Amino acid sequence: MHIELTEMLRCPEPHREEMLVLSTGEMKDRMVRSGLLGCPVCHNEYPISRGIVNFRRSKERVAKESSGPRPAYAPPSPLPSADAAQLQALLELSGPGGYVVLVGAAVRQAPRLSGLMEGLHFVGINPPPDMEEQPTLSLIYANDKVPLRTSVARGVVVGADLATSPWLVEAHRVLLRGRRFVVENEEPELPIGLIKLAAEHGLWVGEKR
Ligand SMILES: [Zn+2]
Repeated sequence: MHIELTEMLRCPEPHREEMLVLSTGEMKDRMVRSGLLGCPVCHNEYPISRGIVNFRRSKERVAKESSGPRPAYAPPSPLPSADAAQLQALLELSGPGGYVVLVGAAVRQAPRLSGLMEGLHFVGINPPPDMEEQPTLSLIYANDKVPLRTSVARGVVVGADLATSPWLVEAHRVLLRGRRFVVENEEPELPIGLIKLAAEHGLWVGEKR
């Protein structure tokens, strides 16, 4: 996890948004390879290991970790991934700075997108299990909440594997007003209140008003 991402994070528990407290262990350049994030409100602690922040609740974390060496999430989407250049155009991102959130199988787009859009940092939520963090990509495991503060992302892409109501509500919440989010599914299971701009070539595009 990139150290500067700390101030964008929030505890996934349903209480007020408050900045988490980071205790760093191993660092590699600006990336925190191991450490602990503590919530000042509910006092939950979330470990960072192999660079990946784990916000899953402890019981599920233990169950996952005991079943294998790596807390794998859902299998990657069998659907073909969208074209990175097309995604960049749909997100209407120009100029460096800020964060783009990728959810599920969409995390696979990070290397190509960061080649097209320099100066942006990507936050991958529940990446496919073979993905590793990069200087431009921080990885996070979460249950059903995106552990980011409200209105912090310049763009969000939700992969086909997680194109369900709870994730779309969260994608919408973390997005800045006037910015766009793309779903790798033309007919996602939409919650009320999301505004559709377009749906074509297997992608659904919305905007936060
Ligand atoms: Zn908390």
